[in-house]
Amino acid sequence: MLRLASYVEGKWNEGSGKTSVLFNPSTEESVAEATAEGVDFAAALAFARERGGSALRELTFAKRGELLQAMAKSIHGIREELIAMAIQNGGNTRGDAKFDIDGAAFTLSAYADLAAELGDKHVLTDGDPIQVGRTARFAGQHIYLPKHGVAVHINAFNFPAWGLAEKAATALLGGMPVLSKPATATALVTYRMVKEFVDQKLLPEGVLSLVTGSPGDLLSHLQTQDVVAFTGSSGTAATIRAMDPFVTRSVPLNVEADSLNIAILGPDVSSGETMDLFVKDVTTDMTQKTGQKCTAIRRVLVPEALMGEAKERLSERLGGIAVGNPTSDGVRMGPVATARQYKDVREGIAALAAETSAVFGGEGEIDPVGAEKGKGYFLSPVLREAPKGGGHGVHEREVFGPVATLVPYNGSASEAATILAKGQGGLVASLYSDDRSFLKESVVAMAPYNGRLYLGSEKIAAQSPGPGMAMPNLLHGGPGRAGGGEELGGLRGVTFYMQRTALQGDKSILSAICS
Ligand code: NAP
Repeated sequence: MLRLASYVEGKWNEGSGKTSVLFNPSTEESVAEATAEGVDFAAALAFARERGGSALRELTFAKRGELLQAMAKSIHGIREELIAMAIQNGGNTRGDAKFDIDGAAFTLSAYADLAAELGDKHVLTDGDPIQVGRTARFAGQHIYLPKHGVAVHINAFNFPAWGLAEKAATALLGGMPVLSKPATATALVTYRMVKEFVDQKLLPEGVLSLVTGSPGDLLSHLQTQDVVAFTGSSGTAATIRAMDPFVTRSVPLNVEADSLNIAILGPDVSSGETMDLFVKDVTTDMTQKTGQKCTAIRRVLVPEALMGEAKERLSERLGGIAVGNPTSDGVRMGPVATARQYKDVREGIAALAAETSAVFGGEGEIDPVGAEKGKGYFLSPVLREAPKGGGHGVHEREVFGPVATLVPYNGSASEAATILAKGQGGLVASLYSDDRSFLKESVVAMAPYNGRLYLGSEKIAAQSPGPGMAMPNLLHGGPGRAGGGEELGGLRGVTFYMQRTALQGDKSILSAICS
């Protein structure tokens, strides 16, 4: 069986001891195995810090951007192979796989463009010089320079390509070497990407390390100049937050976790392009990547008067989606990625069923296309309807699969905001309305609870990719339950990897340092 090695200290390391097996979720056949047991994490981190860090810090922003562009190009070069792997190991449809893999290349390219704009500099300035003395000669200037540690990136199973790329793009541009740890269950795509970067010698030694398999005591070796960016469940995030490096050594930790993202249909929308966009976006988010997107819509607020129309339109569209083995013709939604996911989602649907009624897909039973009977982790898309305002579970439990719940509300922005807040912080909320006063009132009330607000309206319907797509130039992350993190957003995501320092001195000296 294919063994996914880790890439540490400038060489491949297959690990030792018991391996974890990666499966094909459509057939339950084994695909590969991995273990990081036996990897010397302290040495891996030290190598990255010393060799990778110093090599990157010598490069200007523009030169670091060239590395990112080369990574994007090499992903493109093995695109078809990566797509096949995402279908095999992730249960992705071809469209799902492209979303992840093309998204990875696009994000690296976007940061390469940003790097070119920053140019041949090493110092990033934050704002203009400030007069701090009696005369303008004595000035202050805030600057950013790369931290002298390693950026440890821990990723979730759902985006094995984009997860590595979006975090690496910001860290490498910021000047920090990366040690990336994908979720073991779907690590095949990540492994193949890193293998390509290594085989093509795209990056200086130590700039990118890979750990495939359980991270063991990796995080206990962190030092004060290291940082961690984590994406995954809030349970794992809580375990990590309590670890010694974060509690006693102030190692910065960025968390991207669960989110009960909400879509809100405005009271003014009963038909037309805005209604069509709402139906399309909700359906896409429920079924793209089998609902396993952190940004996917989980709660759908609909004015009571429009509930009948919304149920009919959504059910009709969901009914047109064939579920099954993504290698079969016409299949538009594959299985969930793992046996654990399947169990979690089934339990989540059962809990929702206790307080909601079925609109589409019952509790997920399905006869999948092109699958062997009794094999594979397949579910129907499931749309439920809660009583007015929603019950408890709708706002509490993220069911990480093709599942959403309709929640009736009275059509006012204030009631919608009250219901939204029950999710305790989200990555993205989407509003569908052409009524500017409803939108303004909603934005003012809802923004503090979300990292991103998506305003779906008639004028942008034709060009909108939907709320589920995280963009490199817009913030990704959210408060509260969503983890409190901030990734991407152009330079906003880069500065996590740099230290902000206030300089005080002669203005002309400061200017010479910053140029
Ligand atoms: P998970 O079980 O929490 O695992 C996430 C990652 O953490 C994996 O790489 C896992 O490694 C690693 N991990 C587990 N225990 C660890 C420990 N003690 N120390 C260090 N690392 C540890 O999450 P998942 O099932 O992969 O992903 C699903 C969740 O991710 C969902 O809740 C979803 O909302 C969230 N998510 C959020 C975002 C976002 O941007 N906000 C994006 C995607 C997903 P192993 O695989 O080796 O166990």
